[in-house]
Amino acid sequence: MNRSGIGYDVHRFAAERKLILGGVEIPYMMGLDGHSDADVLSHAIADALLGAAGETDIGHLFSNTDPTIAGISSMTILTKVREVLAGKGYRIINIDSTLIAEAPRISPHLAGMKANISQALGIEIADVGVKATTNESMGFVGREEGIAALAVASIEKN
Ligand SMILES: [Zn+2]
Repeated sequence: MNRSGIGYDVHRFAAERKLILGGVEIPYMMGLDGHSDADVLSHAIADALLGAAGETDIGHLFSNTDPTIAGISSMTILTKVREVLAGKGYRIINIDSTLIAEAPRISPHLAGMKANISQALGIEIADVGVKATTNESMGFVGREEGIAALAVASIEKN
């Protein structure tokens, strides 16, 4: 029996933060604000996977008020989510995702993101979709106030 889930996340830009997307540090004048490394793409993927398994969102696994996980790598979050799913007897079939960002240019980094995410989740690179688009200069993404991400995940019982 296959199950699917969706995830959405958004983080606002902040000065003096690293920009981490899909576990890749991207050179840019700003990063994303957040309690963890603020990897918006990995958070959307984590929520898609948890949703597919009938779990609640990553805020329940990783509280944004827990000082012991401040700055936690989102690759660690994805690995934890993989363990939660494995514990319930689920195997990840594939994930797909889209980053929505006006800047910086994402496309040179897509291959690195796919490699990182596939490693964290223990699935093939071919089973990880990462795409990027702009918001055509509209709305908060268009005004470069932050970056949004969407993800879907398919899982099945072992
Ligand atoms: Zn997030």
